[in-house]
Amino acid sequence: MIFLARTVSCLYIHLGFDFRPSRRAFIVTALDRSWQPIASCSGSHSHLFFPPNVTERKEERERREIRAKSVCRICPVGSECLDYAMTIREPYGIWGGLTETERRQRKARISV
Ligand code: SF4
Repeated sequence: MIFLARTVSCLYIHLGFDFRPSRRAFIVTALDRSWQPIASCSGSHSHLFFPPNVTERKEERERREIRAKSVCRICPVGSECLDYAMTIREPYGIWGGLTETERRQRKARISV
């Protein structure tokens, strides 16, 4: 189920749509992704930003996340990326230098 959710999540992100559930139906909104071509994570770094499909030990995850965040620190579109992930409530991966847990915590702080 998690694999399916992640696959669907990645698919709609790559298509540039936001499928947020509303009370009546899914809202489909085209989002601005013009910042993505100059993202520092495009190309060979992309494997660092999402967990692998095999079990990842805690130490491996921490090392991967540190490496991904080091790429985010020099990324010219970090704020756009984080805004995008927060807007679509991206449930997986590192976006804008924050993990999914860190984004949820940030959202909770903003909501208070
Ligand atoms: S901030 Fe990080 S995840 Fe976002 S586009 Fe830049 S390198 Fe990629």
